[in-house]
Amino acid sequence: MYLTRLAALVVLLPIAAPAQSRPRVHIVATGGTIASTNYYSGQAGKIGVDALLKAVPQLDSIAIISAQQFANIASSAMTPANWLVLSRTISDTLRARSDLAGVVVTHGTDTMEETAYFLDLTIKDPRPVVVTGAMRPADGIGIDGPANLYNAVRVAGTHAARDRGTMLVLNDEILAARDATKSNAVRPNAFSAPYRGDLGLAEPETIVFHRAPGRRAVFDISALRDLPRVDIAYSYAGSDGAEVDAFVAAGAKGIVVAATGRGSIPPLQRQAVQRAMAKGVIVVVGTRTGSGTVPVGEGVRGSPPIPATIGTGDLNPQKARVLLMLALTKTTDRRELAKIFQANQ
Ligand code: ASP
Repeated sequence: MYLTRLAALVVLLPIAAPAQSRPRVHIVATGGTIASTNYYSGQAGKIGVDALLKAVPQLDSIAIISAQQFANIASSAMTPANWLVLSRTISDTLRARSDLAGVVVTHGTDTMEETAYFLDLTIKDPRPVVVTGAMRPADGIGIDGPANLYNAVRVAGTHAARDRGTMLVLNDEILAARDATKSNAVRPNAFSAPYRGDLGLAEPETIVFHRAPGRRAVFDISALRDLPRVDIAYSYAGSDGAEVDAFVAAGAKGIVVAATGRGSIPPLQRQAVQRAMAKGVIVVVGTRTGSGTVPVGEGVRGSPPIPATIGTGDLNPQKARVLLMLALTKTTDRRELAKIFQANQ
């Protein structure tokens, strides 16, 4: 009896591991539902990083945490200018702190996949950058934020997570930033990686990796002040390309077409695409289907075909936009751009 009670005590009291055996993890908070208190009022930015950490006292037993408040916004308010600063902030922190095992970014889930892919394509350090968030607000019922943050810190502190680029950790799943997409607007299992599957799992006792991430070519953004404008044109029955003309007029250097099926573009929209290409705008064709590929690289696509467009492979349109923005800072040559898309499959 006495022994049973003692055993229960041992289980119930979390004993913090000695400092030297706990990895150091830095948290960069940017806002989102994980830092909000109400589903429908969109009140991101209610909860600061200190309160986020206080809600997960278990973190203390698995890592030595430092933290900073980068922003406190809904992720729909994230901009490419924010990406540049965030990426540099993380790279500078990793450079300055050789003691860190990794970095966790808390972020709204709506555009998480875009920010995460930008970080993946721009941070060279082998240490993991793990992006997490929540589908339920901090004052909700059955909330996912604390578990997601806890698992994100576990992954960021794990040696096996090195050299895997930027990852998303939500719902106990580890997804490559390149592959992850928000595929459900409401459920806590909102993210998936169509066909490629997860990289691994945050199991209760251990972090498991099943596979290596896909290929990526990292861009140097140290000298960049801004990113070229790239827009996404959605295809649908009867689309007439008015948005393509408007994007060109607004100064777009590139356009990603979220085309129907395997890259077909409705006739009037296709004419607008050809007008844009004649003005030197780079056109990349992806699919609006949510999964599957448009043949990657430069080629002829659509029916009837448009020559000299670039296919995204299985990058979804919003990811292809991120890659094209970065690629256009290096070259405007279509063949070179096509090679960059091939190198990131
Ligand atoms: N509105 C939130 C956002 O900032 C949604 C979320 O975080 O889940 O993206």
